[in-house]
Amino acid sequence: MRILIVEDEPQLARHVRAALIRHGHAAEVEADGVRALQVAVRDQPDLVLLDINLPSMDGFEVLARLRQAKCAAMVLMLTARGEVSDRIKGLKSGADDYLAKPFAIDELIARVATLARRGGAPLSGSSLHLDDLHLNVPQRHVIRGGRTLALSPREFDLLQVMMQEPGRVFARTELRDRVWQGEPDFDVRIIDMFITRLRKKIDADSERALIHTVRNVGYTLRLPS
Ligand code: CA
Repeated sequence: MRILIVEDEPQLARHVRAALIRHGHAAEVEADGVRALQVAVRDQPDLVLLDINLPSMDGFEVLARLRQAKCAAMVLMLTARGEVSDRIKGLKSGADDYLAKPFAIDELIARVATLARRGGAPLSGSSLHLDDLHLNVPQRHVIRGGRTLALSPREFDLLQVMMQEPGRVFARTELRDRVWQGEPDFDVRIIDMFITRLRKKIDADSERALIHTVRNVGYTLRLPS
């Protein structure tokens, strides 16, 4: 994942950055609240590790403004141990998770891995729309053309990933990493099979196909051109 570390203690920030990089993530550090907000909106990282006490703007304010700016990055708040009110405030403001400081680096890496498995699932309560296809994410409910569709959990996850970025072409390997992460010996041809199943459910009864094959690259979800 692409991770923005917002932390004003340089030693801790360096330590966290090095650990994340060792675990295969891309990670940058910002120490200042206002600057971190600008960078997050500009770069749209997958995850923001957000300290609360920061120079120029605190973590809660950064989080609120990120959400106002429709930044979909997952946010892991770094809170003071024992400060339950901080955690509740953070989660209410749209944080995806929190971690109490001081934390063991392994604990942080485990939390980040859990968030990565969620694959950038949008904030709870959100829904996704393209043409007459509607996904209610928290309820995992899919409607096309007024009809409710029965999707398996993996079919739903696959559709959700593609629907978050209509028009973007997803390589099979990326879809594998987003939906089937951690499954050993996964054959990317399984994705072709899932796409076929999704097409039967989503597109077969509609005049406008939304799932498109991009030859030698992968798949995209968009209105027909
Ligand atoms: Ca701090």
